[in-house]
Amino acid sequence: MKESGWQLEHSYAGLPDVFYKETQPETAEFPEIVLFNWNLAKSLGLDPRNLQLESSEVFSGNRIPDGGLPIAQAYAGHQFGNFTMLGDGRAILLGEQITPEGRRVDIQLKGAGRTVFSRMGDGRSPLGPMLREYIISEAMHALDIPSTRGLALVTTGEAVSRDRMLPGAVLTRVAASHLRVGTFEYAARLEDASHIRTLADYAMERHYPEIEVPDKYLKFLDAVIDRQAALISRWQLVGFIHGVMNTDNMTISGETIDYGPCAFMDMYDPETVFSSIDVNKRYRYRNQPGIAQWNLARLAETLLPLIHDDKEEAMKIAQASLGNFGKLYNNYWQSGMRRKIGLVGGEEIDDSLANELLDLMHQYKADFTKTFRMLSLDALEDMPLYATEAFKNWYERWQERLESQRLPVESAYEQMRSVNPAVIPRNHLVEEALDAAVENGDFTKASKLIEVLSSPFEDGHDRMFKEPPEDEERVHMTYCGT
Ligand code: AMP
Ligand code: MG
Repeated sequence: MKESGWQLEHSYAGLPDVFYKETQPETAEFPEIVLFNWNLAKSLGLDPRNLQLESSEVFSGNRIPDGGLPIAQAYAGHQFGNFTMLGDGRAILLGEQITPEGRRVDIQLKGAGRTVFSRMGDGRSPLGPMLREYIISEAMHALDIPSTRGLALVTTGEAVSRDRMLPGAVLTRVAASHLRVGTFEYAARLEDASHIRTLADYAMERHYPEIEVPDKYLKFLDAVIDRQAALISRWQLVGFIHGVMNTDNMTISGETIDYGPCAFMDMYDPETVFSSIDVNKRYRYRNQPGIAQWNLARLAETLLPLIHDDKEEAMKIAQASLGNFGKLYNNYWQSGMRRKIGLVGGEEIDDSLANELLDLMHQYKADFTKTFRMLSLDALEDMPLYATEAFKNWYERWQERLESQRLPVESAYEQMRSVNPAVIPRNHLVEEALDAAVENGDFTKASKLIEVLSSPFEDGHDRMFKEPPEDEERVHMTYCGT
């Protein structure tokens, strides 16, 4: 057998054993590899040619790769505001691959069978949601937004029972780690009070090695707050709606994780919500920064005993850190929004220009992605928004501002084209690709979509990938698909 390049280590399994349970994946009867991420594999130090021989076996969970130690991780979380004990109910960590550059990344199988944390679930996953996660997480990565990634997608040849029988699949997910806010919530509730410190030390070493004493746990909290503020601003700036921002779906690393009922907004409307289970619109677009802050408060609570011996004092300190979230978020968002409209430096007028544009887009039901891209190309003719007096007035003031800055106008447009995508994973296209795969075993649409989404800032793509949906194509609801 030729070497496939696995360099698996198990630092997480070095934590006390309350943090995980060794778990063998269940076997799949007729595993077939349907998508494989060659570029990602190479960057992980895997040899795709040799790997190919074993790929469907390894990426279905039928065979443990060299050096693998399959475990399910324990965690808890606030789901829609309510605390629950959770854990990897349908995910199994094979180990941490050490890449040729020395990075450490989790290799996890999603949908490979039951674990001790499965509760009433079957540990399996239908193909649709796994394909959806593969497509959207790769699109996020190409948009330069921190995200877990899809390495491989295998159909199991077995049916999974949901509201009807559906083809089963296993997704191999690559992540900086799977440490979540929920992992800390779990640790903080363990009888042995030393576990939370052990976990915090581990997380710091893995994701924030630059942090030093004194006050390292407070610095850790501040660092996670900062990364999440940056991440959520990136979501808002591309119109991404996560859909299930439960604390178990928020990473410590600052990567986007768990692509359930997530979706990109077409028409700009801050109230947009897609998830069928989010009946109170808790996770609507407009709420995402506030929810992130709420989740970070749950993280802060777990760290209180490490921040100060006196509880009152610890709370005061943590409150001050949480209070910074808004400012950090606004700074990231504002500088991102300025880039989206080609402005450099920062002038008073910039924020009102940005906000007025958003208000107009909302009022005239303009497509979020297309509006910014057309502005970047200075090609607005075919947009209804452009015909309005209010927009023309805005446009004139914007042009004045562009011309008054040091940066040549042409360079400003170039900057805009590098941050305003021409293509995003539009819901109607994602649904179409999923439908072809699930109903007909046809992955050509999915593959094409993945290819297009890998270069989001190029204009050469077919028109159908760039245009917003027609009214009858519009997707109003997305499903969690567990
Ligand atoms: P998610 O909505 O994917 O973030 O999952 C929330 C929790 O439910 C996690 O603990 C999952 O492991 C668990 N879960 C989701 N789907 C299944 C399933 N089919 N079988 C067992 N556990 C599941
Ligand atoms: Mg989850």
